[in-house]
Amino acid sequence: MLQQQRYILEHNIVKLSLKHFSDNNPANDMKTEHSQIQEQRRKFLKGFSLALGTTALGVPLFSLSSCQSSNTAGEQTATSDQEQTTGQNRKMGIALVGLGQYSANQLAPALQETENCYLAGIVTGTPTKVDEWKTKYNIPDKNVYNYENFDSIADNPDIDIVYVVLPNSMHAEYTIRAARAKKHVICEKPMATSVEDAQRMLDACRENGVGLAIGYRLHYEPFNKRVMELGQEQVFGKVVSIQGGNSQDLTSGNPNIWRLKKDLSGGGPLMDMGIYVVQGACYTVGKAPVAVTAQFGEVTSPTYFYEVEQSVNWALEFEDGLIAEGTTSYAEENDFLKGKAENGWWTLEPAYGYDGKEGETSEGKMNLPNIYEQVQQMDGQAQSFRNNEPSIVPGEMGLRDMRILMAIYESARNGGKRVTI
Ligand code: NAD
Repeated sequence: MLQQQRYILEHNIVKLSLKHFSDNNPANDMKTEHSQIQEQRRKFLKGFSLALGTTALGVPLFSLSSCQSSNTAGEQTATSDQEQTTGQNRKMGIALVGLGQYSANQLAPALQETENCYLAGIVTGTPTKVDEWKTKYNIPDKNVYNYENFDSIADNPDIDIVYVVLPNSMHAEYTIRAARAKKHVICEKPMATSVEDAQRMLDACRENGVGLAIGYRLHYEPFNKRVMELGQEQVFGKVVSIQGGNSQDLTSGNPNIWRLKKDLSGGGPLMDMGIYVVQGACYTVGKAPVAVTAQFGEVTSPTYFYEVEQSVNWALEFEDGLIAEGTTSYAEENDFLKGKAENGWWTLEPAYGYDGKEGETSEGKMNLPNIYEQVQQMDGQAQSFRNNEPSIVPGEMGLRDMRILMAIYESARNGGKRVTI
């Protein structure tokens, strides 16, 4: 039921990461001490119940450096909004670009609960939406933009962050325009529809001294963060296998939605839902794969899948030989992330939806809360922009994922040949 709600919301379709020491040297003592610490940490983590907003060790377990450099945009002074205070506590103003289902049903309501940011403006190509949004969220005329006058957002001190929530192929253009306007950018997944576009987006943010984060909400969410700890900290020993699936049946909805048009989506379920599974594998071990093999599934609903794949299965190969199997389809339903380690296992099912997540390990049920992920995500991202700190979901991660997705497509197009990444 919850699964179904999530899909309805997500799609609005008709029915929607210690080294060891050698003998005979002073490092021996260190080794013993190290082993003890490691053992204590494992025991602690096994019985750990995750605190919201941070990990057991108080650090992000899968953070990469972001593209942020000097942060001129984050130092702008807001002039008008009552919600804003000054300095480190100042709420950052977000402008949502694209007022579709995700913006309307998830992000805008979440921005009513965030502490580090607020909904300051909108960018839309649909004039009929403007009045409703202005009234509902108390947005002044001067913070309303369309796609033509969007670049003048550069002159608006109320807007610190532009959040791109458009069809996938439009992410690059609006991220680059926002960066040139000296605004930080949050860009929805998938970051782009090609590796080249993702690189251009990163370059634009670097050149303009603004931050770029991807809308990877699961990095802020307790169940998936627990999986990062279990895998990356080797709580049950070394990870020996990973399996995940994320699929939704679109075959009774509108066949003309942008998600089924290659020029707008860049691809089918892999770009939209499979990306979560790829992410899941990477954050289970805190590494990127080195190679992939993949196969497209049979097209049984050609009315829907004449431009994009109906389904695709893949195997990600990591440098230590670990294989992570993944599947995604627009013609069936599944939502899971499983890991097996030397001394235990875990399962999230559902794993990726907005709500209703459940998790279990070989030691019992995960006693964790479902939270409003987008609130945690945007508050975390706003804080990193404001403090000029690296994001835990930086543009570099989005680029990495684009390389993996494109390698999956390349393998599948070439009869499952092994493609190195
Ligand atoms: P949607 O179809 O509901 O909204 C798309 C918006 O883009 C609409 O407001 C539409 O008017 C606008 N748009 C502008 N040009 C368009 C064009 N040429 N064709 C179609 N629409 C056009 O889509 P959505 O579900 O809100 O998804 C938007 C983005 O958000 C996608 O990149 C998607 O992958 C991402 N998303 C992420 C999550 C998440 O959980 N992180 C969930 C849903 C969607």
